[in-house]
Amino acid sequence: MYLVSNRTMLLNAQREGYAVPAFNVHNLETVQAIAETAAELRSPVIMAGTTGTWNYAGLEYLVAICQQAAKKYDLPIALHLDHHEDLNDISRKVHAGVRSVMIDASHYPFAQNIEKVREVVRLCHRYDVSVEAELGRLGGQEDDLIVDESDSFFTDPAKAQEYVSRTGIDSLAVAIGSAHGLYQGEPKLDFDRLAQIREQVDIPLVLHGASGIPEAMLRRSISLGICKVNVATELKIAFSGAVKAFFNAYPGASDPREYMEPGKQAMKQVVAEKIRICGSEGRI
Ligand SMILES: [Zn+2]
Repeated sequence: MYLVSNRTMLLNAQREGYAVPAFNVHNLETVQAIAETAAELRSPVIMAGTTGTWNYAGLEYLVAICQQAAKKYDLPIALHLDHHEDLNDISRKVHAGVRSVMIDASHYPFAQNIEKVREVVRLCHRYDVSVEAELGRLGGQEDDLIVDESDSFFTDPAKAQEYVSRTGIDSLAVAIGSAHGLYQGEPKLDFDRLAQIREQVDIPLVLHGASGIPEAMLRRSISLGICKVNVATELKIAFSGAVKAFFNAYPGASDPREYMEPGKQAMKQVVAEKIRICGSEGRI
């Protein structure tokens, strides 16, 4: 198998009423944790990297590792650019083998957002690469993307259809109350707004900031049209928590083959749980 776009994955999910989880990766171990779990549960999966991750791991390394995971497990893996903003950067990564892109122009005014996204769609569709874009703006922090609560705003359902048809995107990231990073208290999702967006737009919808959203709320979002659920923070917490516990138990440890393993295992449990909630188990 090889790296695929997420278009077919998300359309299948939309048709059959489940969501495909998108997990953020950083290195070999995080790719292994996701690929092993997805293979065990026969789930389609998206592996996402922010610009910070691509800089950290290296473009060719990350593509090669994910290609190998797809081949080893005969899995369709969509390796995805999460929150990318620069056309040249996206182009470089598409030419290196990436087939799934999010262009985040959500900080621009409506017309400019459309213009930026159209450029990326023009490039990506030439190579059968799927494009996701965001209308509205999530608050919180993801890597070096920090959006103050006061700068965040919800997706306007009345503008969603125009946005989708003028940009030509394959999936739409919605801002309905979820946020990047950790929630202070119970998150509040605007389900009425999500239902209104769904009425206006027929392409798959994407929920960012799903870490910490209770299961019932995630399931309700999926029933209202969310087809891609992004999880990053919860994976990091599980991985690092298990590694910290390992060092607490074995302060003299120094072998990465030993201290990475509990991190991987803890991450696999979160991956399995999200696959179960998304309903993507057994879909391939
Ligand atoms: Zn995001």
